[in-house]
Amino acid sequence: MRKVIGYSAIAISTLFLMSGCVKEGYKKHEVKVEEHSVKHEAHKHWGYSGDVAPANWGKLDEKFKMCAEGKTQMPIDIKPTKDIDLPKLDLKYGVNSKSVVNNGHTVQVNMNSGDTLTIDGRIYELKQFHFHTPSENHIKGKSFPLEAHFVHATKDGKLAVIAILFKEGAMNPTLAKIIKAFPLQKDKPVKLELSKEYIDVLMPPKHDYYKTMGSLTTPPCSEGVTWIIFKNPQTASKAQIEAIHKEINQNNNRPIQPTNGREIYE
Ligand SMILES: [Zn+2]
Repeated sequence: MRKVIGYSAIAISTLFLMSGCVKEGYKKHEVKVEEHSVKHEAHKHWGYSGDVAPANWGKLDEKFKMCAEGKTQMPIDIKPTKDIDLPKLDLKYGVNSKSVVNNGHTVQVNMNSGDTLTIDGRIYELKQFHFHTPSENHIKGKSFPLEAHFVHATKDGKLAVIAILFKEGAMNPTLAKIIKAFPLQKDKPVKLELSKEYIDVLMPPKHDYYKTMGSLTTPPCSEGVTWIIFKNPQTASKAQIEAIHKEINQNNNRPIQPTNGREIYE
């Protein structure tokens, strides 16, 4: 029992740090206390420019040392190394989103529980998705103006992220719904109930993907994260990309990290 509680605490703190700060969504009050202290620390200690820029993340806190020492860090420039005919992605989404928040690092949509991604028999639940402008990952040397990360976790704290790149083109109806909630007050979640259909159209119709092992792209840069990167970009209008960038109010993309010979499957 003690072990189970330990894992959950790690999972929750990890997710919490990853998202910058999730202010809601956990039912246990005793956990919330921990979240608030973690949140305060996370906000105080890292960013995208100046003394707390990505190049310094590893030095800012002992807990962030993987940002400097890790060997499978993200983001990367995706150049596939092996064609293994990856299986069809097993996504079971059907739950409405709960809220949208600007946590100072990104704009994040928090999910109600119930959406799952199954990889190699392991069930991951969708916790939240958030945005980076410009994109963090590149595909074959190409950067994109926007990237969405769908963050999933197993009950014992293993993480899987689906990355969707956006190019400039047709407006996206889901982004329109999210942008309607702007401007957001920092750390104040606003109710946003996106149905399954809206979550679906944030993803490209074809789910062909690359798969690799990586890390969180934000402190503590923990490794062992399964990454699924959709091959085909989705589109967003120029005005939508600009609106999201304006709301985030900075370039929130960590620079490209070395692949160090890791396999990138397609
Ligand atoms: Zn992200």
